[in-house]
Amino acid sequence: MAQQAAEKRELTETAGSPAGAASIESLDPRTDAVIATYPVADANEVARVVERARPAARWWESLGFDGRKRWLLDWKKAIASDAQALAAVISRETGKPQGDALLEVMLTVEHLDWAARNAAKVLGKKKVPSGLVSANQEATVRYQPLGVVGVIGPWNYPLYTPMGSISYALAAGNAVVFKPSELTPGVAVWIADKWQALVPNQPVLQVITGDGGTGAALCRAGVDKVAFTGSTPTAKKVMALCAETLTPMVAECGGKDAMLVDADADLEEASNFAVFGAMGNAGQTCVGVERIYVADGVFDTFVQKVAEKAERLRPGGAPDSSYGPMTMARQSEVVREQIDDALARGGRAVLGGPESIRAPFVEPVILVDVPEDSIAVREETFGPTVVINRVADLDEGIAAANASKYGLGASIFTRDRKRAVAAAERLRAGVVTINSVLGFAGVAALPFGGVGESGFGRIHGADGLREFSRAKSVARQKYRAPLNLLSMERKARDMKIAAWLLKTRHGRG
Ligand code: NDP
Repeated sequence: MAQQAAEKRELTETAGSPAGAASIESLDPRTDAVIATYPVADANEVARVVERARPAARWWESLGFDGRKRWLLDWKKAIASDAQALAAVISRETGKPQGDALLEVMLTVEHLDWAARNAAKVLGKKKVPSGLVSANQEATVRYQPLGVVGVIGPWNYPLYTPMGSISYALAAGNAVVFKPSELTPGVAVWIADKWQALVPNQPVLQVITGDGGTGAALCRAGVDKVAFTGSTPTAKKVMALCAETLTPMVAECGGKDAMLVDADADLEEASNFAVFGAMGNAGQTCVGVERIYVADGVFDTFVQKVAEKAERLRPGGAPDSSYGPMTMARQSEVVREQIDDALARGGRAVLGGPESIRAPFVEPVILVDVPEDSIAVREETFGPTVVINRVADLDEGIAAANASKYGLGASIFTRDRKRAVAAAERLRAGVVTINSVLGFAGVAALPFGGVGESGFGRIHGADGLREFSRAKSVARQKYRAPLNLLSMERKARDMKIAAWLLKTRHGRG
């Protein structure tokens, strides 16, 4: 049973789930105890849920920004006032300590609040300049909701991550159908229940539980956009499914984030953040620190500091554990494979090694001098291990950081503000932090998303609101144009003036 639940179901490429797979069990990965059983929605059920969402989407849109803001802030209040209970559900389903789970709730609520309060400003009707040639037109743009958005979420931050799409999609006026990871259905059901308690008659937010087949069915169900967060290989499958019906998608995928430590960095601070970024949540963070490039002159001191701090961590299932288990049991094998490969290629373990894997827990592992072509440097690890490699200077660090197919986050540690800002410009990543890691996560106004195999599109901030909207442009003629060019009976004189204008305005200088 544990084995069956720990391994995600093998996906059939067909829509919906096999008829026989009627339910899934959610487990506490610390003990393998069954928490609850949830139905697996098949393609028919998914279609029904999306159909139910259609009229709810129209009702929700008709409320306007102010009406929606009130409901969203009420929902926020309901979540925040019961935050410990929600954190307990997150903690049970992922195995992460209650404190980490509570932090996840806190960050989520910040985003929900921002989206609710800023939607009108970002998406509301605005005049735009019509320009000299079209001075007789009044030009306005506003952003309309798409309709029904399908959200597919992962298990590692089962609240914060999907809510980065859900909050913004709802604030933009869409209804949402949310398919959580099969490992964390309880979190999704909890937030949807809170919504239902407020708005029982309008299924503006619905959850469908199930496996990958349920997610595939959602992609095929005629939703107006899919917001996917998960691994890059699954994103490619989702994109292929969406292509069948030309359904647009936003893809928030995996990463291999690099941290750069310059020779002048505050090493105490940098090593603290390195340990937090690499080991927090057992390394199961899409923007976790997986590679660290350190300037030669401070390499040894930095490695020693990181090793000392990481050695003090105590993973486990107790409330005060530093971090919890591998939520998905087979992830331990990915970690083992990467450690073995790094060591076989000449890397060294300065803390831990293959023996650190005592599933479901993994002790911190620090690898140094690992060849850049090893899988521990190239592929996402999603475990409490980190590679620290030596570079001559910041420039070499940037080149190494950028030599990845992923491009989600990156961090820079230096006391030189100008150099840090210039380096941030050159890093091929969607989000860069200077002298911290994950510093952006609670800044709701900052858009979030990746480059390359880390995905495309943006959640959070104004871009996140626009991601779930479409621009509606209106040009209203205020008076007849002095030059009558939009006519089948254009005058030669008007064309002559137009030709002169074209040359004068754009053909000189
Ligand atoms: P997966 O890619 O395995 O799954 C993500 C979601 O997709 C799950 O809900 C899954 O359902 C569903 N799914 C699986 N197959 C299909 C399919 N064919 N069609 C539609 N949906 C499908 O990712 P994980 O859940 O394992 O999450 C970890 C990954 O997420 C890591 O790579 C991590 O980096 C990334 N991530 C990215 C973030 C970002 O913002 N960029 C944030 C957080 C995580 P089921 O679980 O039921 O199989």
